Amino acid sequence: MTTTERVPTRTVIAGTPGAPGIARGPWARFEGSIVKLGGRILAAQAELEVARLNAAAEAVAASAELLADQVRLDGHADEAEIFAAHAAMARDPELVDTAARHIRTELVDGPAAISMAARAVAELLGSLGDELLRGRATDVLDVGDRIARELSGLAAAGVSLAAPSIVVGDDLPPSVTATLPRERVLAIALERSSPTAHASILARAYGIPAVVGATGLLAALADGGPAVELLVDGASGQIVIAPDDADVARFIEQNANNEQAQARDRDEANLAAETRDGTAVALLANIGSPAEAPAAVALGARGVGLFRTEFLFLERADPPPEEEQLEAYASAAEAFSPHPVTIRLLDVGGDKPIPYLPLPQEDNPFLGVRALRLAETRPDLFLTQLRACYRAATRGRIKVMAPMIADAGDAATLRALAQQARSEVVAKGQAAGEVDLGVMLEIPSAILTAETYFGDLQFVSIGTNDLLQYTLAVDRGNAALERYRDSLHPALLVLVKRAVEAAAAFGIELSICGEMAGDPIAALALVGLGVRSLSMTAGSLPAVRRAIRAGTLPELEEAANDGLRASSAAEVRARFEVVDRLAQANAV
Ligand code: PEP
Ligand code: MG
Repeated sequence: MTTTERVPTRTVIAGTPGAPGIARGPWARFEGSIVKLGGRILAAQAELEVARLNAAAEAVAASAELLADQVRLDGHADEAEIFAAHAAMARDPELVDTAARHIRTELVDGPAAISMAARAVAELLGSLGDELLRGRATDVLDVGDRIARELSGLAAAGVSLAAPSIVVGDDLPPSVTATLPRERVLAIALERSSPTAHASILARAYGIPAVVGATGLLAALADGGPAVELLVDGASGQIVIAPDDADVARFIEQNANNEQAQARDRDEANLAAETRDGTAVALLANIGSPAEAPAAVALGARGVGLFRTEFLFLERADPPPEEEQLEAYASAAEAFSPHPVTIRLLDVGGDKPIPYLPLPQEDNPFLGVRALRLAETRPDLFLTQLRACYRAATRGRIKVMAPMIADAGDAATLRALAQQARSEVVAKGQAAGEVDLGVMLEIPSAILTAETYFGDLQFVSIGTNDLLQYTLAVDRGNAALERYRDSLHPALLVLVKRAVEAAAAFGIELSICGEMAGDPIAALALVGLGVRSLSMTAGSLPAVRRAIRAGTLPELEEAANDGLRASSAAEVRARFEVVDRLAQANAV
């Protein structure tokens, strides 16, 4: 060791568990989009800035070409075309000359000028009738962003890992999480974010350990330097920077224990999910792609309660065509046969922007044009999905649900779209199967007005992640609001109870597909409230099944009734923890 090298000191950061599992290894930093716009220059600097702009555009074009070659060599010829097109855009005189004009006439700096030019081209493309060209608008914005980053000396957004590493960052947008090179991601450790943010949800789906809300992590790593090793425990939420021998010994032991636990989980997959006194609960999986089906089936999932289709729309330049969606939905339905697969229509907006669907900038995207609200301007997106669903229903059991329903009017929108899509399939002479229609209950108003539209549906599913966010006014991605995050909050229990009663009155099925369903203690409360169907990340199925099998319905009902009148989530949780402990002791 040279005298200039620092010896990293062992530091423990306490974060929030995001996804279970442990990992040990080097770290790589994800840098979010932090390009500052609106910088000014002097007239005398204009030509130099134009020269910098041209050089940056060429550098971006060259690296896009390189990426295209790599992707092609990896066997993904179609995806390679996206990056080849990006290279052509970076060299497009229309884009670069417009930016140069902004520099010379308005005396703005290169990053501001290229962003203005990219936005203008994107707006033009977005206004065209041709869907393919409209889809290109976001690519132009992406290329503009990369040129601006190059000019600002910032790395491109995204994560490229030369070696297996722990991805560290302030936060990870869902699009980046979904496109991580999974085989090289050992774990995710984030300074901000929360367990119900999509970074955590995806990490759980992919089996990547994650810790979120790790305040102080980035500063501590800046002190330790890039070579320092990390130990990330996604179950406890602990991150150890520069672990010592005792930490490493603990890691090795825990790893062995985890492997044993996984073997037990697989052995128990066929046990019935019913309380000790015989009340059956259907346990289903939440998935983001058909590729997750085998793992979910192996852990005993009896169908899919939530297929988050928006993840099919990422990692590409245009929306997936109907045939491709048909294949994705039908292959999931076949994998889970004879159980149903519930396809959730596109939920974009909020924290899930889609690069090629440029939505207008909103001050409050979670309260904006998100999910089904997009149907007013882009019915084509939902009609394509619905047509694919009706066609997939000839190959397996398909249910379709709409996200972000506020009231009867939104439910009527779903039914109208579904009817139109079905007629279009039939008009083309294609076979259409039977599809159950339902909605997600994730806005309080949708539950409070249940009686006005439940009779028109076959099922409903409560999305507790958003229901908590919209009931308690807690941004689901904000780590500073952890104290409000427990979905066992009595306000949520009251809403769940109300929905259960309304669904029973109309004779329709109700399930839960938010993260609450995968928390064994919360699952007990839900069963006590009358819920008989729970859908969760597949990895949560074994623990929830064990908790349910230990309990008895009367004790769960009694505790749930008390929970409705409790004054805090902590009180409810403490009560159910006692119920669970006693039940587990009685069960063995
Ligand atoms: C929810 O809000 O609980 C839900 C299941 O949907 P998402 O997490 O995708 O918003
Ligand atoms: Mg939701």
